[in-house]
Amino acid sequence: MDVVVENLTKFFENQKAVDSISFKAKRGEILGFLGPNGAGKTTTMKIMAGLLTPDFGNITFGDYSIWKQAGKIKSIIGYLPERNPLYDEMNVIDFLFFISKLHNIPKYKITSRVLDMIRLCGLDNDKHKQIGELSKGYRQRVGIAQALIHDPEVVILDEPTTGLDPNQIFGIRKIIKEIGEEKTVILSSHILSEIETTCDQVMIMSNGKIVANGTTSELRRKSDAEYCLKIGI
Ligand code: ATP
Repeated sequence: MDVVVENLTKFFENQKAVDSISFKAKRGEILGFLGPNGAGKTTTMKIMAGLLTPDFGNITFGDYSIWKQAGKIKSIIGYLPERNPLYDEMNVIDFLFFISKLHNIPKYKITSRVLDMIRLCGLDNDKHKQIGELSKGYRQRVGIAQALIHDPEVVILDEPTTGLDPNQIFGIRKIIKEIGEEKTVILSSHILSEIETTCDQVMIMSNGKIVANGTTSELRRKSDAEYCLKIGI
C-alpha cells in the first residue's frame, strides 16, 4: 500500500518535534528513518500509527486519510513501539492467540496465522516458553510477530534492533527484509549501516526536519561524512 505524508507537523508546547516533513513509501519498499536522539523519528511513527494527532499536515494510506478514516487505518497498520510492553507471564503461542482475538481475526484463521508468524520470526523453538524467560532479541521477535498478526499492509518498526547483540541484530534485519518483500515497511534506527543494508529509501532526520533523503545508493554517493556530521551521528 502506498503511504503519502505531506507537511506533517507536531508541536509539544512550543517545541516543533516534527517540522513539516513530507515523504512517500510504496508497497514492497522499506523506508528508513535515521537520526540522533530527539530527531523526531518516534513522534513521526506515533502519528503514523494513530497514537498522536498532528498539528498540521496529512497522511494517506492508499485512499484513506488519517483525518477521515482513522478507524480503518488502525487495521491497516502494524506497529512495534520503541519500548514494547509484553505479557511476561504468558507463553509465546498463548500470547499470539490472545492478540489475534483482540484483532477479531476469524477463529478458523487464527492457528495458521499464529504459526506463520512464529515461523517468520524464528520462534519455533521458543513458542512454549514464557515471554519473561526470553532474551531481549527473542522478546523483540515476539513484538514483531504481535505487530504483524493481523496481516497489516503497512508495518512501522521503531528502533527494532536497539540494544540487541550482533547475532540478534542480524536475525531481526533478515525478518524485516522478508516483511518488506510484500508490505510497506517504515523503520527507524540510530545506525547508519543498518539503514543502508536494510532500506530502499532513507530519510535522515534532525531537529524534526528531513535534512537528507534518497535511495541508499544516492545517499552513498553524497558524502557520508557530510551528512553524519550535520546530524551528529
Ligand atoms: P529517540 O531516538 O531518542 O527515540 P526520536 O528521534 O525518536 O529520538 P522523538 O522521541 O520523536 O525523537 O522526540 C522529538 C522531540 O520531541 C524531542 O525533543 C523530545 O524531547 C520531544 N518529545 C517527544 N515526545 C514528547 C512528549 N510527549 N512531550 C513533550 N516533548 C516530547
